[in-house]
Amino acid sequence: MLCGVFVGVLLMLMNDSNPSAASLSDLVEPGAELQTLGTGMKFVEGPVWSDDDGGYLIFSDIPANEMKKWTAAGGVTTFRAPSEQANGNTRDLQGRLITCHHQSRRVTITEPDGQVRVLVERYEGKQLNSPNDVVVKRDGTIWFTDPPYGLGKTPKELDGHFVFRFDPKDRSLRIVAREQSMPNGLCFSSDEKRLYVADSDPKKHEIWVYDVKPDQPLADGRVLCAVDKGVPDGIRCDAAGRIWSSAGDGVHVFAPDGRLLGKIPVPQTPSNLCFGGSDGRTLYITARTSLYAIRVQARSR
Ligand code: MG
Repeated sequence: MLCGVFVGVLLMLMNDSNPSAASLSDLVEPGAELQTLGTGMKFVEGPVWSDDDGGYLIFSDIPANEMKKWTAAGGVTTFRAPSEQANGNTRDLQGRLITCHHQSRRVTITEPDGQVRVLVERYEGKQLNSPNDVVVKRDGTIWFTDPPYGLGKTPKELDGHFVFRFDPKDRSLRIVAREQSMPNGLCFSSDEKRLYVADSDPKKHEIWVYDVKPDQPLADGRVLCAVDKGVPDGIRCDAAGRIWSSAGDGVHVFAPDGRLLGKIPVPQTPSNLCFGGSDGRTLYITARTSLYAIRVQARSR
């Protein structure tokens, strides 16, 4: 039985000596428990919520070459297979699914009729490395990271690992950040004045922040914080400006100034997370072989 299994993991609350303790009670619902929604998968990533059809979650099982779907009524089912080794997922302004693929080294969009179209696969004639995670800005532009994790022994064509911005209106593609060794998760702040980028290089394990101004290059890139266990992979901002990051021992939550507010332990190492549910206050977490959820005091930006 995949649905409704409570693992009974208690939240690791910071003790009273920690000055951040007062903030932590704002992170999760009182008495919240981590729930296992599905397990037995290979390596899950890229969760994205949809309010359509009563609400459902799409996520990827990369090595299984499948995209999965979770609903409260039906649990975990296969959404698409093969998936070109899908990884990160998001939705555009019209709710269409946008997906990064390791195997085909491209970013696609899924039309409402199910047709899958390629959005991006080359930069200046060279094939992308292996697009990893993706977000959509309110102006409709699509921002994604391109580390080499999906390449295996295939040689790279690009000379680096970049963050890209793709504009569907004119199909222009440009590099917007080059500072991370292994750019991975990314998210905009609620007001879209900031872009956060996770660097999964184990020597760095940092989250960067950039200032975002309309029609200008990203500015003032700087390290906001580092996770102290493992590396950050997927990250999300909530409406209050906090950054929720996957980390080696669970989910770490940071204030906009980089201060660590608290940690939610997860039995397996999380790869990614997203807000969802009917009120937007459930945090869905993909972690190695399992999908988890917990009720939080936050909602999507
Ligand atoms: Mg990732």
